Amino acid sequence: MGEGILNAIADRVGTPVFVYDAAAIRSRFRRLVTAFGDTPHGIYYSVKANSNLAVLGVLRAAGAGADIVSGGELARVHRAGFPAEHVVFSGVGKTAGELRHAVRAGVGLINVESFGELRLLDEIACAEGRVARCGIRVNPGVTAETHPYTMTGAKGMKFGVPLDEVPTLAAWAAERSSLCLVSIGMHVGSQILAAEHFREGAEKLGGLVAALREAGIESLEIVGVGGGIGIRYTDERPVTPEAFAEAVRPLATATALPLAIEPGRSVVGPAGALLTRVLYRKHSGSKDFVIVDAGMSELVRPALYKAVHRMEIVTGREAAAPDGSVVDVVGPICETGDFLGLERELPGAEPGALLAVHDVGAYGFSMSSTYNSRPRAAEVLRDGERWAVVRERETIDDLMRGEWTVEGLEWQR
Ligand SMILES: *Cc1c(COP(=O)(O)O)cnc(C)c1O
Repeated sequence: MGEGILNAIADRVGTPVFVYDAAAIRSRFRRLVTAFGDTPHGIYYSVKANSNLAVLGVLRAAGAGADIVSGGELARVHRAGFPAEHVVFSGVGKTAGELRHAVRAGVGLINVESFGELRLLDEIACAEGRVARCGIRVNPGVTAETHPYTMTGAKGMKFGVPLDEVPTLAAWAAERSSLCLVSIGMHVGSQILAAEHFREGAEKLGGLVAALREAGIESLEIVGVGGGIGIRYTDERPVTPEAFAEAVRPLATATALPLAIEPGRSVVGPAGALLTRVLYRKHSGSKDFVIVDAGMSELVRPALYKAVHRMEIVTGREAAAPDGSVVDVVGPICETGDFLGLERELPGAEPGALLAVHDVGAYGFSMSSTYNSRPRAAEVLRDGERWAVVRERETIDDLMRGEWTVEGLEWQR
């Protein structure tokens, strides 16, 4: 992203601020579409990666559907203009209220993750006098070498229905007049680097679909291969969209069903930067610290996943030459885990300098918090030379909305 525009945004909007590049989002989305070529497919953008309404609008205009995991995300995609038929509702712990909303809205596919959820969905659809289009999210038992917290498709994890229990659920669903079982799907995990994990999952899914058909299930319309395509944060060599498509395409051929793809990170991750201002420098023990005005409240990935993000000084006073020294880039939060980067070479990281932290378009703002009573950052969308604030910085009043001082309580008993 050009330095000039980043400086202008930081000056006008203040820091910390997330900046997303609409052109990059579109081109990453299109590359995935192109990779699938004439293999029938639908792409459902995983909203939890970045749920900003304007980002959603860019993806809707590009032709995406939406993959959601909560009633809040259902409201967001509705406001962003996605038709309900283009929405897939996933998630391991949907409440009765969320399922009812989804059924009423006519969501295109509700993926259940347990027998209990399937029964509840049936009850709700019955009560509403509707037929719920449902799918079963399968746990394919694929162990991918990602962070333990982003692994979801391995045996013994909370996600999905174990492979061998799926036929029982499918047979039960087939007998219910208020359920239509239209999909079998998986999601192997997030930040997956190797194509073989997708291939392995797709093969297991293919076998399962064949077995279900033999058992007389004829209602399937689509087969879900999830998201999880990794991106390059530092020196990873992630699966390309083309290699991903090649790995899962045989499933479309074998089942003669279109594929549902649910990418989040790979579409928006590299399209976002976090701008933060250097506040202070200090030396303590044997270490040099650069203290900036963003921390784990804005970007929790380093603290939560030991994630490493590229970062660079956008404006120094003068671009200083690297001298081999390293610094820890830390935030203002009262936690030792509050860092954006450790042992980095960052020439020019002096008070007042603007720092860009890269590849934060996914799981950046959407995982941010107000810990330490810090208003959440502003978000900006740029499109070529133009840019606009797409979420205002939160205010201190926003932080205390709905909260009462002890003198103002209405006690109940
Ligand atoms: C989070 C999630 C995704 C997206 O994962 P990415 O790694 O961001 O591509 C897709 N499907 C489901 C069900 C998810 O929970």
